[in-house]
Amino acid sequence: MESTNNNSNIIICPDCDLLLTEQKPALGYSISCPRCGKRLRKRKKDSVRRTFVLSITGLLMYLPAVLLPLMTFESLGFSDSATVIESIVNFYHNGYHFVSLMVFLSALIFPLLLLVMIFVLSFNLHRHHYPAYLRTLFKYYIHLEDWAMLEVYLLGVLITVIKMVDSSEIVYHAGLFCFTSLVVISIAISTTIDKQYFWQLIEDKGVLKNSPPTPMAVDFTSKLTTGLQHKLIICHTCEKIVAAHSAGKSCPRCATKIHSRLPGAIGKTSALILTSILFILPANLLPIMKVDFLGVTDESTILDGIIYFFQHGSFFIGFIIFTASILVPVFKIIGLSILLFSTRPCAARFLRKKTIMYRWIAFIGRWSMLDIFVIALLVALVDFGFFTSVHVASAATYFCLVVTTTMFAAITFDPRIMWDDCTQSQSKSILKKHSP
Ligand SMILES: [Zn+2]
Ligand SMILES: [Zn+2]
Repeated sequence: MESTNNNSNIIICPDCDLLLTEQKPALGYSISCPRCGKRLRKRKKDSVRRTFVLSITGLLMYLPAVLLPLMTFESLGFSDSATVIESIVNFYHNGYHFVSLMVFLSALIFPLLLLVMIFVLSFNLHRHHYPAYLRTLFKYYIHLEDWAMLEVYLLGVLITVIKMVDSSEIVYHAGLFCFTSLVVISIAISTTIDKQYFWQLIEDKGVLKNSPPTPMAVDFTSKLTTGLQHKLIICHTCEKIVAAHSAGKSCPRCATKIHSRLPGAIGKTSALILTSILFILPANLLPIMKVDFLGVTDESTILDGIIYFFQHGSFFIGFIIFTASILVPVFKIIGLSILLFSTRPCAARFLRKKTIMYRWIAFIGRWSMLDIFVIALLVALVDFGFFTSVHVASAATYFCLVVTTTMFAAITFDPRIMWDDCTQSQSKSILKKHSP
């Protein structure tokens, strides 16, 4: 089998480039990088079958979850119900096309695409069929994962309920039950899928028989510690290890273009951070929501919305929205700026902590969409004609731009660049010690 004559006995950490011999963890256990703490492998029990069953359940639940009404708000004889789709259509009709596109993709299209992709993938692997398109399918699945935000939308539903529970009667519908189940299934799929095992199955069953063999002459007795020092690089998508001279070519497993480091990472991340700084001011200073009450319009900014919760004693919800809407974007911008600064020479301090911070920035980015989802639901649920109605306002577009640019900034950054200079100086000192 191909995996025995290439690098199945080697792991390279995707976050710090440390080269390690592979230890197979026991079922349910994981192994982490000793240098930066990145979880490198976790073996999951019965991964293909469980993922397959969950994907079928998710697909069955999808249509009722997005088409059936979630809930109805009733107040002073007025009532209004909303589905997930209606919460998006209202944004579009109000002229907020970019915001509606973001919600449309993150709450509707990407979750469906991920379910369809993982169903096709696990169905084929379960039946021991390995058509060539599986590698492309899995590659796009991995790239899309961060952009599906069902669980953030569900938290938005919860906050909307807490916000309105004092001022209106709330009737819950089957759609809410289906949507909650869909979120639970999506989370379950992300915990049962064993990506490295899936990639191995796709690769080893002959899909890529013609891929060039990779020379793997790793001398573990040397003082060299990283993949690059051993002239090895890993694919950014599927983490296959290939020889450094393959840089610029396509990965033999997933067909992503291979680079030793993400090309132009510092320039792209810097440009995206600067762009997000430009957008964060109007996103916070302009009104994000308008409430019409008996003909009088009241506009509120993100901060006004947070103060509302604190004034009404909902400290926990106020804190969640403050964290998601203000702290997270600011933390991402400051954090990524610190990481960019760390790519300069002589910035080798706290590298492990900074790499952990990078992983947090990449993880929490999507949760900033929370406030947008809350407004989407309020716009759809509170439309009582002249009596009262909620509308989205101009800051929403800027806020979505902040979320998008900071998410892309985290994606384009390559944490290994921070470690490279440190590794080089470590190697230099080792060489110095051993030179006559
Ligand atoms: Zn590492
Ligand atoms: Zn690959």
